[in-house]
Amino acid sequence: MSRTLPLAGRIAVVTGASSGIGEATAQKLAAEGAAVALLARRKDRLDALAQKIRAGGGRALALPVDATSGAAVAEAARTIAAELGAVDIVINNAGVMLPSGVEEHRVADFEKMIEVNLTGAMRVVDAFVDPLVAAARKGGPADLINVSSIAAHGVFPTFAVYCATKAAVTHLSRNLRAELGPKNVRVSVIEPGFVDTELQGHMTDEAARAWIARARQEITWLTAGDLASTIAFTVGLPRHVNLPHITIMPTQQV
Ligand code: NDP
Repeated sequence: MSRTLPLAGRIAVVTGASSGIGEATAQKLAAEGAAVALLARRKDRLDALAQKIRAGGGRALALPVDATSGAAVAEAARTIAAELGAVDIVINNAGVMLPSGVEEHRVADFEKMIEVNLTGAMRVVDAFVDPLVAAARKGGPADLINVSSIAAHGVFPTFAVYCATKAAVTHLSRNLRAELGPKNVRVSVIEPGFVDTELQGHMTDEAARAWIARARQEITWLTAGDLASTIAFTVGLPRHVNLPHITIMPTQQV
């Protein structure tokens, strides 16, 4: 007997889909029946993931996009509308974490974090808000999930700009919810603690690397799959149920 998958008929966009949380989430949403558009810069990784999803019977579209280009994000939105249809799930997940002491003057890293984590996230909202509102108006579920971090509330030496971008994403989400919730678009922010992904591998600051290495030894970290399951659960809830603010932590992380 065939079973209808919980997200059958839904169309999702996942940014940062080439690795970590985004990759696992795209796979999970596809496994639950959603068509998925995969956005990030690394084309080879997106193509491989799209192929894997299709091999499993799902629908996937790989779109290499740099979140720092508003034109590229807007173009991707047009391609998705033409090839997959009207988006009703947006997982706004792409991000970078490049800690450094403020006295090291790594202005290019500060700018990159703000560009990708905050302005990039807002570009994605701008590109997909109309289809989300339209989906809700038609009576279906519509979800915007912004991936923030517990860093939104944390105070960590050398992480000031990263924490600031995530605080902004969390507050942006609260405010967008006030605007879009009454229109039946569910806005959620998810704030994870340590998740085992590539994210920390891009850090060059020695003290930050040592801190992370210690945390890896002392704590069993979350997996990207843990995040994917939580996100799939959230978008699969009945239309009138919204989880506005999700904190997800390794049990041992305090
Ligand atoms: P990864 O480094 O594995 O994933 C980051 C993703 O963002 C990649 O797919 C990357 O793809 C994409 N990305 C980076 N820069 C750009 C860009 N300019 N344009 C488009 N895409 C870009 O890390 P995670 O999966 O851990 O990170 C996902 C989110 O989760 C981030 O927002 C992060 O801040 C957040 N988070 C992670 C935590 C953790 O402990 N791992 C904890 C809390 C929050 P590509 O390089 O191909 O462009």
